[in-house]
Amino acid sequence: MARIVMKFGGTSMAGTERIRRVANIVRRQQHAADGTRHEIVVVVSAMAGETDRLVNFCREANPLYDPAEYDVVVASGEQVTSGLLALTLQAMGCPARSWLGWQLPIRTIEAHSRARVEAIEADALLRALDAGEIAVIPGFQGMSDQGRVTTLGRGGSDTSAVAVAAAIHADRCDIYTDVDGVYTTDPRIVARARKLKAVTYEEMLELASVGAKVLQTRSVGLAMKEGVRVQVLSSFIDDNATPADDLPGTLIISEGEMNQMVENGHMERQLVTGIAHDKNEAKIILTRVPDRPGSVANIFQPLSAASINVDMIIQNVGRDKGETDVTFTVPQTDLLRAQALLEDRRDVIGYNRIITDSHIAKISVVGVGMKSHAGVAATMFRALADRGINIQAITTSEIKVSVMIDEDETELAVRVLHSAYGLDEEETA
Ligand code: ASP
Ligand code: MG
Repeated sequence: MARIVMKFGGTSMAGTERIRRVANIVRRQQHAADGTRHEIVVVVSAMAGETDRLVNFCREANPLYDPAEYDVVVASGEQVTSGLLALTLQAMGCPARSWLGWQLPIRTIEAHSRARVEAIEADALLRALDAGEIAVIPGFQGMSDQGRVTTLGRGGSDTSAVAVAAAIHADRCDIYTDVDGVYTTDPRIVARARKLKAVTYEEMLELASVGAKVLQTRSVGLAMKEGVRVQVLSSFIDDNATPADDLPGTLIISEGEMNQMVENGHMERQLVTGIAHDKNEAKIILTRVPDRPGSVANIFQPLSAASINVDMIIQNVGRDKGETDVTFTVPQTDLLRAQALLEDRRDVIGYNRIITDSHIAKISVVGVGMKSHAGVAATMFRALADRGINIQAITTSEIKVSVMIDEDETELAVRVLHSAYGLDEEETA
């Protein structure tokens, strides 16, 4: 017997017909191949588009809405789908019961609309499982110390699922979505992208945050911290599909477990795991900044105080007259705010001109394999140069090399790099 958390996203829950398919998958998962029963907890999203609709209602009702009441409204989407799934399972003869965030409870910090899970009281859940019931939990929602409804930020149901899996020590947390796994790159750009059998938590964090939007980034961080084994797989499957226990999707696991898979011959070791791209950043250049202690602090302090995330940073070596240019990137949505803050402080910082450009993209090559191998960056730069793609900035970490390029060259760069690292799927004749 295994204990499994199954999470279904908004597209999988969109309408009673789809909820019936989900209920079928849940029912089949409950009955293990060896005749025993698995213990099943299901975490659900609201129907696709529903949360956006509810957010709009809040804006219409009061543009300066109180986040506590916003949470009451937007959390309702998941209440509907969890009840509907319990009803559908019951109609199939499967005992099932829903458990709302405040009923367990799922305790979170007070920060309305962007709360974090602090603790989950699992007693009621464990009793239900013991009684052979399927427990259905609405994702995205929790309860504050004040006993009020909170939500975890957009896409937060993934995090709910991982938090529940950690709280009940589940053997696996299966995230069912509209893709069948994590790919070496965006399959819409590279037709020969391959589905990965497994990625490490660290790799997934890089891939998630740099544009491969399969899971909420925070859910991956939590899985890493709590050691929850996650599988991403498709809910759009037929009755003959490989059972989830045979791991048809992509596993997100520790580096230790990954090494074991390689040693046991279940996987080949790769130098590079995937290529991600991100068009949502913008570049800011401040020209002729005084090259002296404190200059850079003067630039970045106000941005951090305004919670604007700065990603790539380059500062040129000072040129004559003790001046230098500083270039960095911020999320495109924060560009105007960042620009206003910097213009306000022009005298303090002492720059000459501010130049902005949102027509850029960040391309990242990710892989734990690069911890022990040199040459990944050189291959990247050569491959891009051979296609005449100009690199405007570079950043690296232990498992990632990112470059900033012109946005128009995104697709070309991704294709070129995917081939350069030998990631293209072999042609099947
Ligand atoms: N329904 C919420 C959203 O759309 C949470 C989720 O689906 O993960 O952001
Ligand atoms: Mg999602």
